[in-house]
Amino acid sequence: MTCAWIDDDERGQCGKREYKTSKYCFEHKAKAHKIWVDRNKEQAEERQKQRDKFAAIQKEAIEAGMEAGKNCIPEPMIVFDNITGEMGKVDSGGKGMAWIVHRNGRDKFSYWGRKYGNWKKHHYGGIQYWCFEFKQSLEKKQAFCRAFAKVLNNNGINAMAQSRED
Ligand SMILES: [Zn+2]
Repeated sequence: MTCAWIDDDERGQCGKREYKTSKYCFEHKAKAHKIWVDRNKEQAEERQKQRDKFAAIQKEAIEAGMEAGKNCIPEPMIVFDNITGEMGKVDSGGKGMAWIVHRNGRDKFSYWGRKYGNWKKHHYGGIQYWCFEFKQSLEKKQAFCRAFAKVLNNNGINAMAQSRED
């Protein structure tokens, strides 16, 4: 068999003898290998760029979430003490949990999120990012998650804030 290398601008198919088990001759085997190495390097650079981009988006999302949570003034929760019989109020409002869901569990963002971004697998599909900030203040957590999700949405990544009362 002869070398399968096809040169666009020179003489068409090379036609020299194949080198050992390669489909190319010695010279073109080296050339093909270099092209392969360069392409891998390019792809690795592309992947790194993508990772950096996601990291920057999420950093912005967290900052927006923190800002929104700090600025949120929860409606105080009125509590009744069964033992003393006294009424009181809790300034942090109702208690609960809040999180962000990204629906597609198989896209690039999901892969990045689970590997680098503290996202977890979501029970109902996709991935989930828990808000661990603002102790147990549901309203502040909700504000965090809404602002966080909005930054993702603005960057073309689907995300929605969800929550539940305790
Ligand atoms: Zn050749």
